[in-house]
Amino acid sequence: MKTATTEDCPCGGGQAFGGCCRPYLVGEATAETAEQLMRSRYSAYHQGNIDYLIATHHPTQRYAGQRAAILQSTARTTWLGLRVLATEAGQAADSQGLVEFVAYYKDPTLGQVHERSRFTRQKGRWLYVDGDGLPPLWPRRSDPCWCGSGKKYKACHGQ
Ligand SMILES: [Zn+2]
Ligand SMILES: [Zn+2]
Repeated sequence: MKTATTEDCPCGGGQAFGGCCRPYLVGEATAETAEQLMRSRYSAYHQGNIDYLIATHHPTQRYAGQRAAILQSTARTTWLGLRVLATEAGQAADSQGLVEFVAYYKDPTLGQVHERSRFTRQKGRWLYVDGDGLPPLWPRRSDPCWCGSGKKYKACHGQ
């Protein structure tokens, strides 16, 4: 793992990695909500945990060459931050859920994934099904940078 258990979780949830996404990534716990699964999948991209990404992708949506495609993208992409913008259902008692998020990255130019993702729960496990891409959302220049540095966007990744 790239991130130590005591460091901030890459998903930006405000907790240490060891008390947030790590237990899901190492199989010690299963996500109870669609948002937890979404956050853990972001952290898996951040850590390059391809097995977890495939295991939490709905079997009907997996495709040939997926492992190589993820490997190639994680090799050149630095994930900078995640913001969960909205959720619909996806709670412990639900079997379907939606999570809208924006995830920022550098590869080496700045980019983002702004998506409304669909999740379903099968045999007690949340799975990512697919998502609708949404128009980009960039911070204003005087907003805090979404990488969590504490600097303004214009003084950090917005330069
Ligand atoms: Zn987390
Ligand atoms: Zn920044």
